Amino acid sequence: MDVRVCKRCKKMFQYITGPDICPKCKQNEEELFQIVKAYLRKNPGAAMNEVSEETEVSISIIENFLKQGRLEVSPNSPIALSCESCGSKILTGRFCSKCHSNLVGELSNTSKKMTDELSAKKIEKTEKMRFLRSDRIK
Ligand SMILES: [Zn+2]
Ligand SMILES: [Zn+2]
Repeated sequence: MDVRVCKRCKKMFQYITGPDICPKCKQNEEELFQIVKAYLRKNPGAAMNEVSEETEVSISIIENFLKQGRLEVSPNSPIALSCESCGSKILTGRFCSKCHSNLVGELSNTSKKMTDELSAKKIEKTEKMRFLRSDRIK
């Protein structure tokens, strides 16, 4: 059993999967998410502090939704979200599409390198096994 401390309420809970948030806080967050989403749909031009005041959801939580890519603001929304890599204005997530594809490219390069290393190790292992076997025959 995996017990962790909830990031939001600091209570212990039985961890299953996903972020370190207890089911109660997760449900709470889901409700807040729906409220913010509905508000933004009705008021696409609302500023961050306006959304926060009207929905009574703190700005940091709203920013979190945006960074997770769950929430998207309209192109003419005053809510400014900037790419964490180049700083250009984005509508959702943490990176602009250009930096995102760069990052994805880098990631797939690393994983390719890892599989290459893994298969190299595998070959090494089979070589060793063959050696052991021939040893036994003697
Ligand atoms: Zn909690
Ligand atoms: Zn960027």
